[in-house]
Amino acid sequence: MQFFVDPSRCIGCQSCLNACEECETHRGVSMINFDFVDRRESIATAAYVCFHCEDPTCAEVCPADAIKKGDDGIVQSALEPRCIGCANCVLACPFGIPKLHPKRELMMKCDMCYDRTSVGKKPMCATVCPSQALTFATPETIARERREVPTNTFQFGRETVKTKVFMMTPVGVDEVSIDVADYMWEARA
Ligand code: SF4
Ligand code: SF4
Repeated sequence: MQFFVDPSRCIGCQSCLNACEECETHRGVSMINFDFVDRRESIATAAYVCFHCEDPTCAEVCPADAIKKGDDGIVQSALEPRCIGCANCVLACPFGIPKLHPKRELMMKCDMCYDRTSVGKKPMCATVCPSQALTFATPETIARERREVPTNTFQFGRETVKTKVFMMTPVGVDEVSIDVADYMWEARA
């Protein structure tokens, strides 16, 4: 089973945020990243989880070696005794995923419901999402039921990032290209 994110299916119900808060390891704190895409122009929303990068920048920049990636490709949330709350990972993640929990001085992020997925269950968010914008399924099921195609290659300027989690894209798009500099210029215009 793989994790698939399709922002075009998100209806903004925030069920995923609430379900994520129920997780035993971080009860009361949601690890879903939820955004309004362009609030001035549209009501479109998007919910994301950690993309679990093949070479996670968050772990590379951590001075305390608090972020571990397992052989299964899951990038774990920060280890509590190690994290010093410096926020390096928060600034370094190209997807803007890690959150610093100020009271605990601890970085927290999605670990793909490790307690559930490691025993074959779906992550909480994918269990409740009514439009399946967040889906945990086999690639065969996705190929059979979706028009969009999954990609796990993201281009940030000249940097290519490969991930464990897939993003659904329109037919013919085999990588997602995000040029942060473009947005900066747009904002100035
Ligand atoms: S998406 Fe961000 S937080 Fe998740 S593994 Fe990649 S760099 Fe780390
Ligand atoms: S906030 Fe914690 S996990 Fe993140 S880089 Fe700093 S020490 Fe590492």
